[in-house]
Parts: sequence; C-alpha cells; structure tokens
Amino acid sequence: MAHLVLALDVAGTPVHWVDIEKAICLHVAGRVAWELGDTTVTYRGGTNRLTGLVSTASTASIIAVRGREFRGDRSASISISRERLFSRDMHVCAYCGGCFPESELTIEHVRPESRGGANTWENVVTACRSCNQRKGNRTPEQAGMPLLYLPYRPNRWEGMILRNRRILADQMEFLLAGVPITSRLGPPPTRPQQSCPSPRVNQRAPQPAANVPKPNPDRPPPRSVTSSPSWKASRPLRPRRPARLPPNPRPAPC
Ligand SMILES: [Zn+2]
Repeated sequence: MAHLVLALDVAGTPVHWVDIEKAICLHVAGRVAWELGDTTVTYRGGTNRLTGLVSTASTASIIAVRGREFRGDRSASISISRERLFSRDMHVCAYCGGCFPESELTIEHVRPESRGGANTWENVVTACRSCNQRKGNRTPEQAGMPLLYLPYRPNRWEGMILRNRRILADQMEFLLAGVPITSRLGPPPTRPQQSCPSPRVNQRAPQPAANVPKPNPDRPPPRSVTSSPSWKASRPLRPRRPARLPPNPRPAPC
C-alpha cells in the first residue's frame, strides 16, 4: 500500500494527506509551489514516438499547494474519533494508568454528557472498560478517581499525525517540528522504552496533570522553499530538538 503525500498550503501549514496520484496531478497542473522531503516517487508515462523519451512525473513526500482548498487554518482542530483519541493518550487509561489494546479501551467523558459535559477534546480521555464502568455517570471527584493526566486539544500538526498511520520519516520530522515539546506525540526519548500497541509514533507517556501540554498554533512556517536535490542531501528539514527532554513517567507495562 503506497504512502500518502503531506500537502501544505504555501505558508507551510499542513492541510491534507493526499494519495500519490493526486499529488502527481497537482504537479502536472502546476499547482505545487514548492516541495521538500527525502522521499520521491516517479511515475512513468508514454514514450514519445519522435524522441524516444519516456515522460515522467515526480513528487516529493511533502508538497505545498496553491489554491483555496489547500489554505490551512492554523487554529482549526480535527474531529474526535476513537483511534485518534487513543493515539493522543498513548493507549493509557486515564484512571488506572494501564496500557491496553484498542479493543479494551473506551472514550470516557470526564464530565458525563448527561451532566452537561461536551464531546470535545478537552472533556474526553481514554479509559479501560473496567475504569469506565466503575466511574459510571459521575465526575472524577464524585467517583474518587482522579485523572492521571488531563485531556487537551491537539494542534494542527498533532492532528495530522493522528490522521495517518503510515507516516514517512521525513514527514514525521516536519510535523514534529510543529508539535509542542510537551506534547505526548513529541520526539522519542533517548532511552529504550516499553512498547505500547499504537505503532505510529515512538511515544512518550502521558504527563502529570500539572504539565498539561499546551498547543502552540503560532509556530513559524517552514523555512525551506526549494526542491533541489543538493538541498535535500545537505540540509535538515528543521532544527532538531534538544537531546535531553524533561523526565516523564513511563506507562505501566502492557
Ligand atoms: Zn483503567
């Protein structure tokens, strides 16, 4: 199964994941303003009868596209789904701290919907079935079940990570540059860690409530505006993060 191409607006805000055929069409239509990334896919067309040359069209793994439908809204978030919520919370139950497969997890409204709680990123956490049933139609305070981490709304860069299960290394590097360093989807720690069921990101554990990640929608746009092969070979996509990260508690072994 082919990978997807990360489509940005011309200012560098991620907007869509598009398949390779769509990306090639955008190139042919002259709508790609610039591109970057280490991975390039080339499509071969027909052979010119006069010259004998084979027509080709290529796309990099990250492209910036002109046009209204590719105009990014930095403040826009993504809709909630089971898969995205569990990925945001690293498949860790917010009440017992256990790490579970997706089939044993539920969407848990911190403030129950029957008590006016909204179905928003800020009011939902991942909970195992046992904890969800034990909490029932009560608030955490009423149930005596304090949250081990607080819910938050992923920013646009995190949202793009949550939307795609098969992200290429260069695409992930670009997206992580827009993710707050306190995010649960941040860069991998320097030490080997317990593996959780979610395979997409080399993950960090949820943080204590006092260190709730705060989305940073005002990150500057990406720097590069070139697709030169020499640039790809000699320059990184973005400055890398510091090697040392604040210590975080690890999730319980799966
Ligand atoms: Zn639990």
